[in-house]
Amino acid sequence: MTIVKNQPPFSLAVCTLASGSKGNATYISDGETSILVDAGLSGIEIQRRLTSRDLSPEDLDAIIVTHEHSDHVRGVGILSRRYNLPVYINPKTHKACSGLGRLHETRPFECGSTFHFNNLAVHPFAISHDAEDPAGFTIGQNGTTIGIATDLGIATSMVRQHLKPCALLILEANHDPTMLETGPYPWPLKQRIRGRTGHLSNPDSKKLLNELQHDNLQHVILGHLSEVNNTPQKAFDEVSRAINRCGARVTVADQYCSGPVIYLK
Ligand SMILES: [Zn+2]
Ligand SMILES: [Zn+2]
Repeated sequence: MTIVKNQPPFSLAVCTLASGSKGNATYISDGETSILVDAGLSGIEIQRRLTSRDLSPEDLDAIIVTHEHSDHVRGVGILSRRYNLPVYINPKTHKACSGLGRLHETRPFECGSTFHFNNLAVHPFAISHDAEDPAGFTIGQNGTTIGIATDLGIATSMVRQHLKPCALLILEANHDPTMLETGPYPWPLKQRIRGRTGHLSNPDSKKLLNELQHDNLQHVILGHLSEVNNTPQKAFDEVSRAINRCGARVTVADQYCSGPVIYLK
């Protein structure tokens, strides 16, 4: 149960607590049910980032996991135990997570099958990334849907189809291709990042967003930016140019602090 103070009625509230290769976590609430998608920081840091935005870790009801990379799961075990949170995780991802420890409760899901958690309808869909069974999600409540797709090498037609109706998107804008090309990473890592199971570049993200935009798209949060191969300004300048047929706001999620809580009508 979450008490959100002094807010006009909203369908969903979204707050990116962290985004990038050093940790990812997104808070989503409909005012009654509050979840984290990923918990890739230490438990204490996630608590700190929630309270910095007047959100309470005690009000969390569940954690949903996208994939097993440590920047997405680092705090899952500790938060699950500390706050008695069920963890929605698909079986292959769970098997690949060695360091989770005991979980309060495990609730398996399958990519492609919608599940319901209180009033939230969660649809996991497969994404192209170098993990066992990585998932993106749409999360809907009473007609309002948000979409989360970071850590993907390419946006397949299935990904596009799922993200199309969303009022808010958290979309990867990982790297600027020139910065990656001329940057310090070793060749194999550069290849991995720009490969089909790597990460989405700014131009790819722009192309995807240009296709996805619609009149009801309210907000786009660019996420999982590389600190070495991208800058928030470059990501924003490139990707925000995609929006030319609607009034959606574009912002960039931060690695080191929580973003503002965004309330969707
Ligand atoms: Zn990641
Ligand atoms: Zn990953």
